[in-house]
Amino acid sequence: MNEIQIPRRNNLDAFWMPYSDNKYFKSTPRLLARAEGMSYFTQDGQEVLDGTAGLWCCNAGHGRREIVEAIQKQAAVMDFAPTFQLGHPIAFEAAARVAEMTPEGMDRVFFVNSGSEAADTALKIALAYHKARGESQRVRLVGRERGYHGVGFGGMSVGGIGGNRKQFGAQLPYVDHLPHTHLPAKNAFSRDQPEHGADLAEVLENLVQLHGDTIAAVIVEPLAGSTGVLVPPKGYLEKLRQLCTRHGILLIFDEVITGFGRIGANFGAERLGVTPDIMTMAKGLTNAAVPMGAVATSNLVYETIVDGVPAGIELFHGYTYSGHPLASAAAIATLDLHRAEDLPGRSRAMEGYFGDAAHAMRDAPGVIDVRNFGLVAGIELEPRVGKPGARAMEIFRTCFDKGVLTRVTGDIVALSPPLIVERPHVDRLFGTLAEAIHAVP
Ligand code: PLP
Repeated sequence: MNEIQIPRRNNLDAFWMPYSDNKYFKSTPRLLARAEGMSYFTQDGQEVLDGTAGLWCCNAGHGRREIVEAIQKQAAVMDFAPTFQLGHPIAFEAAARVAEMTPEGMDRVFFVNSGSEAADTALKIALAYHKARGESQRVRLVGRERGYHGVGFGGMSVGGIGGNRKQFGAQLPYVDHLPHTHLPAKNAFSRDQPEHGADLAEVLENLVQLHGDTIAAVIVEPLAGSTGVLVPPKGYLEKLRQLCTRHGILLIFDEVITGFGRIGANFGAERLGVTPDIMTMAKGLTNAAVPMGAVATSNLVYETIVDGVPAGIELFHGYTYSGHPLASAAAIATLDLHRAEDLPGRSRAMEGYFGDAAHAMRDAPGVIDVRNFGLVAGIELEPRVGKPGARAMEIFRTCFDKGVLTRVTGDIVALSPPLIVERPHVDRLFGTLAEAIHAVP
């Protein structure tokens, strides 16, 4: 077996790590060297149970042989081929597989390389749709506070995280936001969908009064993951759907986290019973083995744009790597596994046990809320005075050192294990987290 090379200290300097405390990490590096099934292994050989499916993305678990072999095989057959005015069968097959899983009538699939690109692509498609219909005044994009749609200018602008925006100053113009739906005074310790907050969707009516017929699209995550597991209140998405339809606004669901079984169905749209006009996805699409994202649209959106142009390029948008052969191969193998192992069904079968374990944390010191849906849980802690986020970060580090990977955002610990998780893993995950919460004041 090849020895894994331990980087020399100065080898850590060059990589400017994303969304990281570079100085802290490089002074106390935690380097992952290998992954298999439910676990990572550090360079020193310590096993770390993956409580977060990497970054909400390795839904089928790590190192799946079927995916690895599909990528290897495709790399040997054809490494790359363009999809601009050309094509290769595997990209079409991957798109058809995705379309089989999306809600009925959402059968058109545009490939991108990440969730951020998916968000920006979806927003551009929405603008192009209205233009093709002769409603070119519809240029306004509406996001939601505490929404996360990646880091492109579009996604950042409709996103609702102050920290992601203030460092850069410039944003897209013509953007507005709905209020977030996090109502701890009314909904703390809710299981699954909270009771209160559906009426917050009605703020869209106010925005329509304010902006008239200039709103092109509303983009929301069916369940907001990155800002701390915000589960949609009962009736909220239904109301948003009604209002969008009433006012000719496209509804975009960002399913980058909720796609591919995370909340017990292929997509959040299916589980929550609300169909958008456009949906974005990434992460679980290829089990994260090769970067890939996608945007699925309703047939109406596709036909309006594509049939609106008599001949020639219909949408002036795309990426060199849209439908990349290796990513397409990984997607097909992943979706085969997804179906063969019924990952959404597994996730749904485990969600009760997982939810019980999450809610058992409510009595741990300093826990002020627990929320869950599908195989996602958020445990919110009382912040330390004057040091928001410090407590959760210390808990994250303690858990890691005890062999469990968690994710933190502010003072919220989020858990979202691979969908192949079993009861002993759930016990270990929450058992270690409870120990860490007790150990970290
Ligand atoms: N949209 C949502 C809902 C996400 O959770 C994420 C990433 O976590 C993104 C978009 C951005 O995806 P990426 O990091 O692949 O660009």
